[in-house]
Amino acid sequence: MIGRNVITKVASELGFDLVGVVRARALVDEHKRFNEWLLEGNNSTLGYLERNVEKRFDASLLVEGSRSVIVCAVSYLSEYGKEVNNASQTKIASYALNRDYHLSVREMLEKLAQRLKEYYPELRYRAFVDSAPLAEKSYARLAGLGWIGRQSLLVNPTFGSMMHLGELVVDVEFDEYDTPLEGVGCGSCRRCVEACPNGAILENRTIDTRRCISCRTIEREEEGSEVPLHGWIFGCDICQTVCPFNQHAPLHRNPQFDPCVTPDMLSAERFATMTEEEFNALVGTTPMLRAGFERIRKNALKG
Ligand code: SF4
Ligand code: SF4
Repeated sequence: MIGRNVITKVASELGFDLVGVVRARALVDEHKRFNEWLLEGNNSTLGYLERNVEKRFDASLLVEGSRSVIVCAVSYLSEYGKEVNNASQTKIASYALNRDYHLSVREMLEKLAQRLKEYYPELRYRAFVDSAPLAEKSYARLAGLGWIGRQSLLVNPTFGSMMHLGELVVDVEFDEYDTPLEGVGCGSCRRCVEACPNGAILENRTIDTRRCISCRTIEREEEGSEVPLHGWIFGCDICQTVCPFNQHAPLHRNPQFDPCVTPDMLSAERFATMTEEEFNALVGTTPMLRAGFERIRKNALKG
């Protein structure tokens, strides 16, 4: 058994802003709501969401022998996340201006696991960063990291929603477990719903990915299903930038989440003559590298 207080100390030293621990158990209600969302076709071309649904909502099935889920969050909020530059015709979600968070958060989680092994040498674990079927927002909510906002993302009263989540699913128990936050939430605010230019935010705090720019600039498109991108070439920050909790949140404190590309480096004029080699050199290890030159260029030239 590991002390809950150990986790807070070690995770904070490694740069995480929030951490919580819950039992590795099935999330029955969340599973049911997700199935309903799938039945409505809201995942559109994100076919991978239909796979491993049972495991997604039960960490004990995802990792055999697991007992607990440690959910960590780290802010990536930068000046680019505070305000959308509406004049720009090549807008980029602020997280994509940084080194790929899959790499950065995974490194932090691995360090966390190694530090925990100092207390519990037999610890067995698996680390997840948005890359495996795990309902991370649901586990984060149960672990007291925040609530699910109307825009479907986790919102924390201090750090807002511009946070990356990462999880360690471990085979040990803790002396205490966290519980959901109480007395906080969106209240009567509907700013994100009203600001979404494509009406992609549904009333049940989920997203219609068929209309969401964040998905439609990155995921596979079906012929004839294109929606207006409003000048976004990779991702979309509108519903987060307007959120009062992000407006009041502090900027991130981790150098690894400092932007390494700026949107003006990827203007439509530059795309008109840019080669793939130049693009790859420019975007470096940011998440834009995965989407690739052709896709982002196509988005940029749409205007
Ligand atoms: S990311 Fe953009 S398009 Fe998607 S729900 Fe938010 S505001 Fe709407
Ligand atoms: S903008 Fe308002 S409604 Fe939307 S997530 Fe933030 S607090 Fe909730």
